[in-house]
Amino acid sequence: MRAQVLFQTDDIKNHPLLLQEMEIPKRHPGHLLIESHVCGICRTDLHVVEGDLILKKLPIIPGHQVIGKIKECDEGITGFKPGERVGVAWLQATCGKCRFCLTFRENLCEQATFTGWTAQGGFADYMIVPPQFVYPIPETYPDIQAAPLLCAGIIGYRSLKLMNILDWTGRRIGIYGFGAAGHIAIQLLKAWGADVYVCTRDESHRMLAQKLGAVWTGGALDQPPHLLDGSVVFAPVGEIIPAALKGLDRGACLILAGIHMSPIPRFSYDILYGERLIRSVTNNTKQDGIEFLEHAAQIGIKTHVQTFRLEDANEALYALKYDHIQGAGVLVIK
Ligand SMILES: [Zn+2]
Ligand SMILES: [Zn+2]
Repeated sequence: MRAQVLFQTDDIKNHPLLLQEMEIPKRHPGHLLIESHVCGICRTDLHVVEGDLILKKLPIIPGHQVIGKIKECDEGITGFKPGERVGVAWLQATCGKCRFCLTFRENLCEQATFTGWTAQGGFADYMIVPPQFVYPIPETYPDIQAAPLLCAGIIGYRSLKLMNILDWTGRRIGIYGFGAAGHIAIQLLKAWGADVYVCTRDESHRMLAQKLGAVWTGGALDQPPHLLDGSVVFAPVGEIIPAALKGLDRGACLILAGIHMSPIPRFSYDILYGERLIRSVTNNTKQDGIEFLEHAAQIGIKTHVQTFRLEDANEALYALKYDHIQGAGVLVIK
């Protein structure tokens, strides 16, 4: 099979992913062999490739938004059968026994494994995964449109959930950074009746936000014209945090959705005071994934996708880094 393999982390401009021909991995008991059709690209893949995240396994095949078909499946595995179309996401397995797993917070499990970081990922023709966090995919989505739902979509959904807003009607919600996750989150928010304010450095991303119904768009550090009832930061840029806090109403939540962020500058306590809350997002629960995929199909969320060949994974991640992708990037494998 073909696979894009990282042997050593490096700046994406140096093309650290190398296309390799290798054996199809042998399925171990209790696991599924999946034939990958497409794999979404995500900023986390870039953090893996460039070494912003500490790598626990090298060489590693990145990629954690896989849509594919089950090729082989143990008879003992319930709920899946060969030939079925499924999605593989970032969180791959959890221990099931720790204080987090036992209280439905398995996203915080310290023994968790991650697709494309601690386990081989989806930038390849085939992959082996345990079934625990494999998701059935709503039929209404073609493979390419479904891939970005698996990380960008689910993490965006969890970010909004963590704001603890019961009635979204007329609430003013800020989105900082408008890539794959932002362009899905705005569709959820619009369907729920919220008004969406988008701050992003890239002009073409602001245009997409306007097209998707943002009531206001501005630069990454601009102040929206009203105080906001909640904001989510998708951009991995620490400077945004004080700016976003200044734009929040009292009692509102600032949700940080990324796995990595540049240092946050010092800021005055005044902009946090008033019971404003800053909360990070760490992975997602299985329940988040199931709920979001249901909502997405029901609402009819449409993903704007730019496709690349598996051979061009370096170019795709380079385009992601420099805001050259509108919506989400997806590698077409099969
Ligand atoms: Zn656990
Ligand atoms: Zn991701």
